[in-house]
Amino acid sequence: MKKHKICIVGGGLTGLISALVLAKKGLDIDLMVENLSPKNKDLRVTAISEKNMEFLKSTIKNINLKLFYPVKKINLFFEKNNQTKNFLNFNENKNLMFFFENRLTKKHLTKLLKKTNVKIQKKTIKSIDLAENKVSTKLSSKSYDLVVLCLGSNSPIYQKISGKREIKKNYKEHSITCSVKHQIKNIGAQQFFLKEGPLAILPYNNNKFSVVWSIEDKYFMKNQKNISNYLKIKLSNLLKTKKISLGNIQSYPLKLLLKRSYYKKNTIILGDGLHVVHPLAGQGFNLILRDLEKLNNLISNNLRLGLTIKDSNIPKDLSDSRKPENLLMGLGIDTTREFFKSNKYLDPIKENMLNNFSKSKLLKEITKRIANLGLN
Ligand SMILES: Cc1cc2nc3c(=O)[nH]c(=O)nc-3n(C[C@H](O)[C@H](O)[C@H](O)COP(=O)(O)OP(=O)(O)OC[C@H]3O[C@@H](n4cnc5c(N)ncnc54)[C@H](O)[C@@H]3O)c2cc1C
Repeated sequence: MKKHKICIVGGGLTGLISALVLAKKGLDIDLMVENLSPKNKDLRVTAISEKNMEFLKSTIKNINLKLFYPVKKINLFFEKNNQTKNFLNFNENKNLMFFFENRLTKKHLTKLLKKTNVKIQKKTIKSIDLAENKVSTKLSSKSYDLVVLCLGSNSPIYQKISGKREIKKNYKEHSITCSVKHQIKNIGAQQFFLKEGPLAILPYNNNKFSVVWSIEDKYFMKNQKNISNYLKIKLSNLLKTKKISLGNIQSYPLKLLLKRSYYKKNTIILGDGLHVVHPLAGQGFNLILRDLEKLNNLISNNLRLGLTIKDSNIPKDLSDSRKPENLLMGLGIDTTREFFKSNKYLDPIKENMLNNFSKSKLLKEITKRIANLGLN
């Protein structure tokens, strides 16, 4: 029987995980990556929900669960008069979120991929012929039944697929991130809405956490040289300890991007190319995993019915089912960011609103549910 030919392009988390998830289906998969061990190492830590962890466990054979650090406790604070006030906390018997180091996880995923039938090719793609589903590199081109582009958020190759149909906003902020060694017991995940911008603490083992602090470009540019010191002082004050040491700092410019067209013919976009959201809620990659779970189900259904992927409605069905949630979540996170920014009209009533929010069992349950399952 003729195998369905799929091309996945991109060696980021989206490309690697997509290839592994689809590898089980007996498809003929080419994975094109620019570089498998990029010099600029990704030092970020990513938080994923319990439901998304389940998805990875059930679809990726031999995934190393030790790379995923479970957390049962999450605390949220806001700053008022230079003091932080806890307004929401989750302390459960079950795991709420899992945290993994991007660098180690990408290495592990690549190792797993080498044991599958996926053909990994070190190639940069130059163009796509949408009518023929043909992917071209400098030296060759090949047609596929389905092409999945996971090229990050900035690729010019998306132009032909989505044009300018998108919601876009430059936050004029940078996220700075680094790893922090500490001696605090059972630290849990924490989010501080500070006057400079949201700061998240993401534990990834018993004595290390990653910090992500999103600050205005103006503040970042002015303090760039001393940013490590500023961050250390900030963390010492927030956590009430001097016993912390910070690793190398990386910074990422922040934007909101919500694409309106997800596909053309049989070429689809997946990952940051479809949506980029503010990292304050740790939802960007979670949305991507939900897109991938849907794509995985659509392909399975197609194969079960003996239909060809080439003539299927998979790209349209994926777009129809995922676009509303991605749009609402992206705009919801944007609204949350606006809410916590200093605002002379809102500030006097903010504390009251947050206190009432934390008292409502129903709102707490809804927040937990959305963080875990999205809007499904
Ligand atoms: C500071 C920060 C913290 C975050 N924290 C979280 C979190 O806690 N939880 C969460 O859910 N999300 C989080 N996110 C979001 C998450 O990190 C991203 O959504 C995710 O990394 C996107 O991965 P990607 O593979 O889609 O894109 P990328 O990582 O950008 O990968 C794109 C890949 O495509 C390749 N490529 C590009 N062009 C070509 C070409 N022409 N040919 C071949 N290959 C090509 C590139 O080399 C690259 O390897 C965070 C984001 C930031 C900035």
